[in-house]
Amino acid sequence: MDISVIVPLFNEEESLAKLSEWIDRVMKENSLSYEIIMVDDGSKDDSWKVIEGLSENNPCIRGIKFRRNYGKSAALNVGFEHAEGDVVITMDADLQDSPDEIPELFRMIKQDGYDLVSGWKKVRYDSTLAKNIPSKLYNATTRWLSGIKLHDFNCGLKAYKKKVVKSIEVYGEMHRYIPIIAKWAGFSKIGEKVVKHRKREFGVSKFGMNRFVNGYLDLMSIMFVSKFGKKPMHFFGLLGSLMFFVGIISAIVLGVQKLIAVSNGEVMRLVTDSPYFYLSLCTIILGTQLFLTGFVAELIGRNSPTRNHYLIEEELNFKSTNENSKHN
Ligand code: UDP
Ligand code: MG
Repeated sequence: MDISVIVPLFNEEESLAKLSEWIDRVMKENSLSYEIIMVDDGSKDDSWKVIEGLSENNPCIRGIKFRRNYGKSAALNVGFEHAEGDVVITMDADLQDSPDEIPELFRMIKQDGYDLVSGWKKVRYDSTLAKNIPSKLYNATTRWLSGIKLHDFNCGLKAYKKKVVKSIEVYGEMHRYIPIIAKWAGFSKIGEKVVKHRKREFGVSKFGMNRFVNGYLDLMSIMFVSKFGKKPMHFFGLLGSLMFFVGIISAIVLGVQKLIAVSNGEVMRLVTDSPYFYLSLCTIILGTQLFLTGFVAELIGRNSPTRNHYLIEEELNFKSTNENSKHN
């Protein structure tokens, strides 16, 4: 099979028929074999009924129904697990992403050898204040922190080599950072394609303003986990030692000043009257705490069931080579 199209959806009943017809048309025109995996993320409307109807008429349409709403990341993750195509394409259900982009994305993965190609909604049909401006800021920060030169990290339209989606795990709200997760898993040939964006035809956006706060918190944790997940002491230990050191030195300076003053017979205010005393006390305590956090984090890391999971690129002369390289 050439392509798996994964469509996460939450209350999108009006769009699904048109979307699947459109994808089907594009695939037939380009004689590509495909499957569409529609992941119903606990919709409250008739989305699932629509999917049942569509899958009866077209065996290429598959459905997965969540019992409740788990979020787009969960839907994508389950879609990734089920995908069988050589190239996996994710696409929003709301018709904002155009299926016409599929053949070119497929070509970039197959012929240009990209591991991942992300869409870039260069011209965007969303509200300027609520989406476009915040998203520019967010993309700039993510670019800077991750070192991946993409303009539009959160574009729903992306294409992957099959082995990329089989090696990564998306959870929480981490779907915004799939390129970082992929890079971290060793897939560094990440490309970008300007894609047509369209107005939402039906329904409303499922993500409110809270995504900007949560998005940044997620960025912090993903950067932390990718850099220090397996060696937390390098983060906490360094920070803790630095603070402790600064605190101790300034406490010593204060004490020595006092002693010099006393031995010269000068009148000097109490050490505890100086604001520096409290600052040094604070940094000593905080430093110790950070250090201890580092130890605790190391202990947790040692007990993690995934502490020795490494992504293996290839194995030679082993039985079931493919399976090993996929799941380790
Ligand atoms: N979505 C989902 N689960 C959720 C929220 C959204 O599967 O909890 C789907 C939604 O149905 C759509 C895609 O994720 O197919 C993108 O959502 P939306 O269009 O609301 O986001 P926006 O384009 O406004 O950023
Ligand atoms: Mg949308």
